[in-house]
Amino acid sequence: MIADIQLPASIKIGGGALSELANVLATLGATRPFLIADPIMKQLGTVARVISLLHDEGMVAEAFCDVMPEPDDLSIDGAVAQIKAIGADSIIALGGGSAIDSAKAIALLVSHGGTMRDYKVPVVVNQQSIPVIAVPTTAGTGSECTRVTVISDSESHEKMLCMGPGLMPKAAIIDYELTLTVPFRVAADTGIDALTHAIEAWVSKKANPFSDQQAIAAMRLIAPNLISACKDENNKKAKESMMLGATLAGMAFSNASVALVHGMSRPLGVHFHVPHGMSNAMLLPAITAYSLSGAEQRYAECAKVMGLVSTDADSAECHSALITFLNMLNKELHVPTMSQFGITKSKYEALLELMADQALASGSPSNNPRIPEKQELVDLYKQLYS
Ligand code: NAD
Repeated sequence: MIADIQLPASIKIGGGALSELANVLATLGATRPFLIADPIMKQLGTVARVISLLHDEGMVAEAFCDVMPEPDDLSIDGAVAQIKAIGADSIIALGGGSAIDSAKAIALLVSHGGTMRDYKVPVVVNQQSIPVIAVPTTAGTGSECTRVTVISDSESHEKMLCMGPGLMPKAAIIDYELTLTVPFRVAADTGIDALTHAIEAWVSKKANPFSDQQAIAAMRLIAPNLISACKDENNKKAKESMMLGATLAGMAFSNASVALVHGMSRPLGVHFHVPHGMSNAMLLPAITAYSLSGAEQRYAECAKVMGLVSTDADSAECHSALITFLNMLNKELHVPTMSQFGITKSKYEALLELMADQALASGSPSNNPRIPEKQELVDLYKQLYS
């Protein structure tokens, strides 16, 4: 099998890496950057810091700081118009997955026009756009190193998956110090999202020797550090490990695809506004248990690399330890059940068929080691509520 690996051309990783921003822009030949930022980055003063860094290098950057969490197509229109009007030649994305995904979509629409509906899978986005420099502030999505953007359709409310080499950021600046302000709930949800990326990339039917290395390294970094990175705000070592783990998990899934957890998670986000990482967390233990029989050795290896069992443990012991660990994570990180989150049973049950159809249409379930029929998906959704 020949794997098609895509990564940013330049990646700066380490505490303080934000100071490399002007150098990165210079390498790309960009002189007129535009900043797309999460509103919280403005509040925290990081937007002003970035503008000042650029100013010191003789660059003037305008900013759009109204990124919508889990963005839809309407939320990015204003930034597209602003960039066209001023003729910016590059975009700096400062924030979590929502800011980075917004920036990727904005760059595409500025350079090639149309609407995001024109670019959703199965379309492959091959067109190169003005360069995006991704600066993540959450340790989660890995979007800084993925050829993916997720934008909701404001009419149909579908979470549209758009994919292709043209969506890969040209550069990523991965500075864990930017995550030190992330509150507990966001750290927990984004951290479980990253762990899900690593596990799903590892068991995906599209896994390859390159993605395997990133997935294994990501699980090794994330599993022992996730709880303490969320609970202990002074544990910089754990936060640094989470940031690197999330980026490696992004590289892994971008080059191997995600699977059933993500396929079932997106409809929960669309219909019930469950944050992306939290809906993954709600699904991860039960969907992993369902999928074990499709990749017994690979799931056993997960428990070993996460340090949950000794290296000579048999498959049954590994599987049991893995499911116990995933349930323990949800408990320690206070992941709510669906009813605790406020999802009403009657509305949930009325949407079972539609959610199953939407999960299948995303294509992600077909990468799972055990591929469910539609009725099985409906049954899994039902089981998950209780
Ligand atoms: P997010 O970007 O929506 O941020 C979550 C919350 O954290 C927001 O309220 C934000 O203001 C806050 N926040 C971010 N950084 C902070 C910081 N340093 N300090 C304090 N608060 C901070 O969350 P996310 O999980 O990073 O991204 C979710 C989005 O990414 C979803 O739309 C999801 O579909 C998408 N996604 C994309 C990919 C991809 O490869 N493109 C992969 C997975 C998920």
